Amino acid sequence: MRPLADPAAPTTRFAAVDPDPTVPLPVRPAALREQIRRDRIGGTPAKELKAPPSIGIALNRSGGTWSCASCDEVLAENDGNWRDGAIVTETPIAERYATLEMIVRDRQEGPRVTVREHFCPGCAASLGVDVATDELERLPAAQPLGVAAAV
Ligand SMILES: [Zn+2]
Repeated sequence: MRPLADPAAPTTRFAAVDPDPTVPLPVRPAALREQIRRDRIGGTPAKELKAPPSIGIALNRSGGTWSCASCDEVLAENDGNWRDGAIVTETPIAERYATLEMIVRDRQEGPRVTVREHFCPGCAASLGVDVATDELERLPAAQPLGVAAAV
């Protein structure tokens, strides 16, 4: 299995702690960030990873397609599922959280809970993370409210 987290990354950042705004957060070296991007997609990303126009927005749905908000890589047609165009890693949740130095008690029987991480094949941006059981099929893409109401 490809490593999904940097074991040398700082482990003292917790959201529950009120950080001192005058102390800069640790920044991973550029070489480490590039290695994380390569690990996500299994190779060197072809496109530059840029900050999306809005924080927390990883996908664009315009011009008849779903695309990456960081590099404009087209992932699917407008009526399709953007997940079809993403590179997906699926890891049992206990195993994935262990790489983040967190503990989740694993189920001893099925269905198991998994973490499905979707990455842009162009720039390796994280597009979305689904927590699901291993029996659950891929989640559908969001649809506009008007479409859902017409069904
Ligand atoms: Zn991208």
